[in-house]
Amino acid sequence: MILDIQFCENVRILKIFYLLKSIITIIQIAVPIILIVMCSIDLIKNIINIKDNQNIVSKIVKRMLSAVIIFFVPTIINFTLNLVGNVNEQVGICMNNSTKENIDILQKIENERRIALLEAEKIRRQQYEEQQKKEKEAAAEAKRIRKEQKKQNNVLMGDEDCVDPNTDGRVYVKNGTFYIPGNRESGTDGTQGSAPQGMNSCFYQSLGKLIEDAKSNGYTVTVTSGWRSYSAQVATFNKYGRNPWRAANPGGSRHGWGIAADLGYSPYNAALNWVHTNSKKYGLWFRLSHENWHIEPMALTTY
Ligand SMILES: [Zn+2]
Repeated sequence: MILDIQFCENVRILKIFYLLKSIITIIQIAVPIILIVMCSIDLIKNIINIKDNQNIVSKIVKRMLSAVIIFFVPTIINFTLNLVGNVNEQVGICMNNSTKENIDILQKIENERRIALLEAEKIRRQQYEEQQKKEKEAAAEAKRIRKEQKKQNNVLMGDEDCVDPNTDGRVYVKNGTFYIPGNRESGTDGTQGSAPQGMNSCFYQSLGKLIEDAKSNGYTVTVTSGWRSYSAQVATFNKYGRNPWRAANPGGSRHGWGIAADLGYSPYNAALNWVHTNSKKYGLWFRLSHENWHIEPMALTTY
């Protein structure tokens, strides 16, 4: 039986009441018995040895009276508590329900609740740790990406002294980024760079380093085509344009800004492989996957 009053559903309170009830029962039964036994002993003593009769009688009467009073103590307490009303009701319910059976049931419920709480706490902690782990991994990944970007930037940043304020083929370079005019056609007047083969000097600087390092690794890389004029691009387009993706529209080619080069490799496969593997270290890449000879700066935008 489960109690409907919260106060008496507490196992600890019920246990206290149970203990109280046990003590009261013991007092109620044991003390009068002891007193009666003592009275009997006195009576027997008196019969054997009659002496001071008056005294012994009063002693017996006193003890008998005490036994009766003690037996009725709980009744008296109960009567007193009745006057207090509400509190007594509560206490009475607790008293009535503080049985071994109820305590066992409530103890079981409490244990189950505690286990459930522990389980919930465990799950919560696991989720928290998982979350922490994920965040840590994400932070590490972000850090790695930043580092990687910085590394790439550093290569380009290495050309920090290479600043072209819109004078070299109308391209200007700042902090390693190449800016080309967004509203003009390439290959027209003033778009030719000052470096060999009409290339932009900053582009040529990076490409030159790449070619130099390829050479020290035993590969020969040559520039077969640098800057291209508008009319040259028209000719290229007419030659290759109908063969899909072989040439850019005239005015749209990055050759026309002096920031693209077509390369020749020797020995072909090994040199091509080395250049493609290492180009990004120089801030250069092969943007057009179908043109493994056409190299450009990676960081490029319009102004
Ligand atoms: Zn090209």
